[in-house]
Amino acid sequence: MPSCPQCRQTVDSQAIACPHCRMPLKAHGHPGIPLYQAEGTAYLCDSCAYEADDSCNYPQRPHARSCTLYQDLNAAVMKPPRRPSRQGLQIQGNEGWWILAGLAAVSLLIALANRS
Ligand code: SF4
Ligand SMILES: [Zn+2]
Repeated sequence: MPSCPQCRQTVDSQAIACPHCRMPLKAHGHPGIPLYQAEGTAYLCDSCAYEADDSCNYPQRPHARSCTLYQDLNAAVMKPPRRPSRQGLQIQGNEGWWILAGLAAVSLLIALANRS
C-alpha cells in the first residue's frame, strides 16, 4: 500500500487526498490520474526520466514539486522497453509457413473437388 509523501502515513492507492494531512494525491480529483509529489526539499524533475532525456515541455520544469507526468528515472532504467525476442520472431515466421501450407492444401482440395 502506498504512503503519503508528506506525512508518511499509509494511504489507499485510490485516495484522492491523504486522509491524515490532506495532501493531494490525484489530479483533478480523479482516482485514475496520479499526482506525484516531491519529498523533502528535492524537485521531482531531478529524478524524472523526461528531464533526463530533455523531452519535457511542462512550464514547471525543472522545479516541479508536483506533477502528473513524473516518471521515476531509476524505475525507467530498471524496466527497459520490451522488444520481440528471437524466439518470438521464429514462432511468427513458422506461423506464416503454416498459413501458406493450409491455403495450398485448401486450394488442392477445391481443385480435386472440381475435377470430379
Ligand atoms: S514531467 Fe514533470 S517532473 Fe518530469 S521533468 Fe517534466 S515537469 Fe519535471
Ligand atoms: Zn499525508
